[in-house]
Amino acid sequence: MSVKKIRNMKIRIPRRVWALLAVIVLCAIAGLPFFMGTQTYPVTVVQGTSMYPTLQNGDLVVFHAPPQGMIANGSIIVFIQTGTGISALDSLMKPVLIHRIVGVVVQGDGKINYQTKGDNNQQVDPELVPADRVLGTPATIVPKAGLIIMFFQSPQGLVATVGVITFIFIGSSEAKMKKEEEKKTFLGVLAQMALNDELPEAVFKKFELAVEYVEDLRIDELKDGGVLTLVDWIRNGGLDDKWKVRKAPCRKCSSMAANFDCANGLLLVVCPTCNRISTPR
Ligand SMILES: [Zn+2]
Repeated sequence: MSVKKIRNMKIRIPRRVWALLAVIVLCAIAGLPFFMGTQTYPVTVVQGTSMYPTLQNGDLVVFHAPPQGMIANGSIIVFIQTGTGISALDSLMKPVLIHRIVGVVVQGDGKINYQTKGDNNQQVDPELVPADRVLGTPATIVPKAGLIIMFFQSPQGLVATVGVITFIFIGSSEAKMKKEEEKKTFLGVLAQMALNDELPEAVFKKFELAVEYVEDLRIDELKDGGVLTLVDWIRNGGLDDKWKVRKAPCRKCSSMAANFDCANGLLLVVCPTCNRISTPR
């Protein structure tokens, strides 16, 4: 297999596969509370240094539901500091803390309360944590991954995100316009040749269609060698770089042919006599 052939075999992942992957990822993200058995979304970001060095500012913590019954002394728990009593609601409004259990207090009625403390704090937390305010215990810690979330939540992050999306959007539509312009200029040169009877009209028409639908053509199903060469040339960036056209003798019949020189070294030859289109390099 030639190098050129291999270059044309860019791995194309079908759109349906991308869509399926996107659905799987979204389901996994949306289904995280289900998988982790939590009532709230089981992801939180460490802010501050109270659990240093076990947990550091910006670490992302994925937690699972607390075990049934009493949580062992010494465990790290994710909990709501003060609440309305409905943990799903509280987690939306109240600060979530991640501290370590340093003591367990069982009330007369059997209700469990935890004494908590940050590893890096001198003193224990002022309030006891009732068991029903415990959201979970850490399952996975992704160091510093939370910094990304923190950044996107900040005003600068939002501005940056909108800016980048706008930039990509404008950039891509501008690139598209430039490509259309390049196609038009290229066809203009071929049209001139056709009008001067240097290129049969039927051949010009074919080339025109090839240029117009270059992105949609199935290259391995093209039967016309010239069209195939042209499509290949454009797909390999023939029109992307600054290209120039000059007259030079055809290598086969030595009549004057149009040579499309491309900055990236690609050359396309359109010969009026043999009606050939080729890339001699
Ligand atoms: Zn020729």
